[in-house]
Amino acid sequence: MADNYKQNASSAMDMQYVYCNICCSSEERLIVIQNGYRIVRCKGCGFVYVNPRPTVEILKQLYLSYLPEKIEDPLLWDAYMKEVFAKAANMLARRFPKAGSVLDIGCGYGFFLLQMKKRGWQTHGMDVSETAVSYASGQGLDVTLGTLEDVKHKDNSFDVVTLFYVLEHLPDPLKALKEIRRILKPNGLLLLRLPHTTPIVRVLSLLGIKNNLYDPPFHLNDFSPETIRALLRKAGFDNICISIGGVTRPPGVVTRFTTLFFGFLAEASYRISFGRFLLPGVAKTIIAEKR
Ligand SMILES: [Zn+2]
Repeated sequence: MADNYKQNASSAMDMQYVYCNICCSSEERLIVIQNGYRIVRCKGCGFVYVNPRPTVEILKQLYLSYLPEKIEDPLLWDAYMKEVFAKAANMLARRFPKAGSVLDIGCGYGFFLLQMKKRGWQTHGMDVSETAVSYASGQGLDVTLGTLEDVKHKDNSFDVVTLFYVLEHLPDPLKALKEIRRILKPNGLLLLRLPHTTPIVRVLSLLGIKNNLYDPPFHLNDFSPETIRALLRKAGFDNICISIGGVTRPPGVVTRFTTLFFGFLAEASYRISFGRFLLPGVAKTIIAEKR
């Protein structure tokens, strides 16, 4: 990762500038400043990312007190993700009728792995949160504390690797995807779930509504269908299929209503168009095959 970074003498000691993770360009245009961080778009390929951003060491410190969507109750998290997990499990069941082995990176409390285990899969999980790992282990799951870099899996270990709302957090998503490719079996599948914030921020900016939807510095990347395709191809994946993949159910009334409304609209327009129309701004589920 180090050679992908250029240190800027004028920046604070704990901040660093990066090149575009997809096309290595240093040409960028400022979109907006949120939480004091610059969100930029690469002039070369359109990738949206935070630049400069805290160093990896500082990010690790910040994550000690981080909770996704500030949800403390594991059962609320189960309700939040239930439909997305069920649809992802169904997609994988269609590809692997006899079940296989799955590694869930950033598995949290382990609810996706529990679904896969019930379907007869061999399941493994990884997470950086001690609370999550201890909860998941308590459910009888095989879960390791740490990152992909800490835990060196052998080549060709898994039929499927999944990352739900993880890739947007990673400082070097290309490096992570290459590592996942290495540990996948030949023709193994990667399943990603990603938010897409830029179209919403664009609409809110036009309406003059200030927001911190990019959630920096926790979210460092924002992928469009085009940029995730480009990144996956660069990392050695093929047969990329992007779908809506269900709707999450956030706890707050207003957020839940908005998410459900746009989620159902996205799912309906995706089906009516036979999978050709992907509503911008809603989260997507992506499947890609190891080339
Ligand atoms: Zn680029």
